[in-house]
Amino acid sequence: MPDNPRTYDYIIAGAGAAGLSLLCYLLEQEPLRNKRILLLDRDAKQTNDRTWCFWQTEESPFESCLKSKWSALYFHSPTFSRLLDISPYQYKMLDSLAFYQHCLGLLKKHPNVEFRQEDIVRVEPNGVVHGKQGVYQAQYVFNSAFFKIKKLPKKHYMVQHFKGIFIKTAKPAFNPAEPTLMDFRVEQHHDCRFMYVLPTNAHEALVEYTGFSETELPQEAYDRELKAYLRDFLHLTEYEITHEESGIIPMTDAPFPKKLSEKVINIGTAGGATKASTGYTFSFIQRQCSAIARNLAQGKEPLAGKGAGFNKFGLYDSIFLRVLLEKKQEPRQVFHDLFSKLPAPLILKFLNEETSFWEDFRIMNAVEKSIFLPAALKESLHV
Ligand SMILES: Cc1cc2nc3c(=O)[nH]c(=O)nc-3n(C[C@H](O)[C@H](O)[C@H](O)COP(=O)(O)OP(=O)(O)OC[C@H]3O[C@@H](n4cnc5c(N)ncnc54)[C@H](O)[C@@H]3O)c2cc1C
Repeated sequence: MPDNPRTYDYIIAGAGAAGLSLLCYLLEQEPLRNKRILLLDRDAKQTNDRTWCFWQTEESPFESCLKSKWSALYFHSPTFSRLLDISPYQYKMLDSLAFYQHCLGLLKKHPNVEFRQEDIVRVEPNGVVHGKQGVYQAQYVFNSAFFKIKKLPKKHYMVQHFKGIFIKTAKPAFNPAEPTLMDFRVEQHHDCRFMYVLPTNAHEALVEYTGFSETELPQEAYDRELKAYLRDFLHLTEYEITHEESGIIPMTDAPFPKKLSEKVINIGTAGGATKASTGYTFSFIQRQCSAIARNLAQGKEPLAGKGAGFNKFGLYDSIFLRVLLEKKQEPRQVFHDLFSKLPAPLILKFLNEETSFWEDFRIMNAVEKSIFLPAALKESLHV
């Protein structure tokens, strides 16, 4: 045991989407409001390093940080193009800097919360956190800074990789009410690739080139495809790039342990919040962190009620990853089948893991059975 570690009730190791969401949910709970909380991150969280999108029917606690929201989304495949009504959902775009500022702004009202910009060296199972400048200890440590993806047999490993550019045009070029969730009319290169276009006004949009595959692409491939798409589909050759972002998000059914010990709880991507089949994480982080805060406020263990029972959505993700990896059917055909045959809100509900068995059946009925049934059988038998 190190000499006199500084002690707290909770340490939040990693002040990104999950760490800061958890902070907000903890401070919302009356019994937790005066807990001594330490936030540790190597980064000051003062830059707009990513844009989070998610969909929900209710108001978000971060509604004031939204850059835009929409109630319809375009889907395009080579043979189907439609603006799809997604109500009661709204598709929301959150600027990470606004989110960081909102969450860190709470520190002014809560002197019991401390933020230290510091590299974390390691987190021990007994709740001791070694930073570059100090040693800290808490009743619970919530870790989103460290995770390892284990390579296991019979698990599927892909990544969602993308580059997005924020562009600005002199002349009006976009309809801000008509974003594009997926445009599969682009060359697939025997892979699964699509464009994503989120206009925030008539002159500005985020245009993103995304792939689901085993590895990412060389940087120039994203730039080439973005330029070609803007020219060929949006008829834009003159625009200013005001900001860029890129990312690689794990898409795997390999397990992410929910805790390192009774005292060290993993949250965010580290805690399995990234949906294996889509890479969407933000909504699942909200569910995970609000449940932890509720449990703590009721005097329960942070993960109380999180049973290890059968997770049907985990099985669906594994089947989907297998279908994408085996490529017995062109991957974009799967999305075409879903979006051309089913109401968009049902698909969004399914991807948010909110559907009933009957609704799941409607989803399964829309995809190619000669592809999905053998994949489902193999996944169920673990072969
Ligand atoms: C560019 C980008 C765009 C994305 N867009 C979406 C989206 O639209 N919708 C969606 O649902 N998901 C999206 N994701 C996926 C996911 O929501 C994000 O990755 C999200 O930030 C994950 O939250 P997290 O808290 O687990 O990790 P992070 O937000 O990455 O937070 C981890 C924190 O730990 C800190 N840290 C790491 N190591 C150390 C260390 N050794 N010492 C100190 N600090 C450390 C980091 O600085 C960071 O602040 C996106 C991801 C990226 C990269």
